[in-house]
Amino acid sequence: MKPLNRRDFLKKAAVSVLGGTSILAGCQSKETAEGGAPAVHTRKKYQWRMVTTWPPRFPVLGESAELIAKWVEEMSEGRLTIQVYGGGELVPPLEAFDAVQQGVAEMGHAASYYWAGKAPASQFFAAVPFGMNAQQMNAWILSGGGWDLWRELYADFNLVPFPCGNTGVQMGGWFNRKINSVDDIKGLKMRIPGLGGKVIKKAGGSAILSAGGEIYTNLERGVIDATEWIGPYHDYLMGFPKIAKYYYYPGWHEPGTVLEMFVNKSSYEQLPKDLQEIITTAAIRSNSWMLAEFDAKNTLYLQKIKSEFSTQILRFPDSVLKAFRQYAKEVLEEITAEDPTSKKVYESFAKFHKEISTWSAITEQVYYQDIAG
Ligand code: CA
Repeated sequence: MKPLNRRDFLKKAAVSVLGGTSILAGCQSKETAEGGAPAVHTRKKYQWRMVTTWPPRFPVLGESAELIAKWVEEMSEGRLTIQVYGGGELVPPLEAFDAVQQGVAEMGHAASYYWAGKAPASQFFAAVPFGMNAQQMNAWILSGGGWDLWRELYADFNLVPFPCGNTGVQMGGWFNRKINSVDDIKGLKMRIPGLGGKVIKKAGGSAILSAGGEIYTNLERGVIDATEWIGPYHDYLMGFPKIAKYYYYPGWHEPGTVLEMFVNKSSYEQLPKDLQEIITTAAIRSNSWMLAEFDAKNTLYLQKIKSEFSTQILRFPDSVLKAFRQYAKEVLEEITAEDPTSKKVYESFAKFHKEISTWSAITEQVYYQDIAG
């Protein structure tokens, strides 16, 4: 067949738009023609909804959801449009998982440890205390079999998961008392969710759950003595430097938290292959965008905290980190003993972590410790 020149293409396009038939009829790709899918099918438009666990327009995390929607619309030339809803706008934030499972919305944007109550193994795809960092999590998920296990886990909930970002190593949190030894954790009321919270409990503290909007007031009024949040950028925006004196590092509890996007599996499978690939591509673009954005913004806002406040930025003492590490080990043993799926996923996680650590130890680690400025 003679290849179409541009003028022929435009002529066909004009005719078909006016006639309401497929504009692709004359320039159908080999792949589509051989696949046998009618060209008209690929022009079908999809209007989807994405629910998130973030407040509307929440910096970085909410922005990622908006960017994914924008990129998908642009790449698909408007064939798939996604309306993004902040937490509470369509469904309450922590109902995002159920809403997408049930098809109330086709997509969700969250962090998988929020679903620990439904699927304890989901936590391993977000953050594990003393677990892998962002680079290592990416290696495990994208190239080390993690994503397959994640898909398998979510298939039981009629969902397809995608990694769509990482916070990098978080900060340890804001404290109104100095932590000199693990004894200082006794009686400490700290806002800290998930596995990190279980570690604090084992150390004699209490892990308080407060919604994002209540943390500032609770810390200011002494309802809590400490809180973790994310890192300098978000913590600055929350106003924590105004009301807490000590800013501890590192975020042993969230060493590289993965953010997720998930899609209703039935809806996903009904999409043409190219739109499925567009969704994947947008998620993976966000995956690298988010870590870059966190690193750039945290650098800037760490400087702002240092220059605008008298915050004391302190490293947790080694003895405290050592105790936390032991408690974290106990927490993980308890979870994997109770749930066979968690055991299976954690075995893959731990094996990969152990192996990649021998590589990281002679590369990244040496670079940071001995070579980088
Ligand atoms: Ca956090």
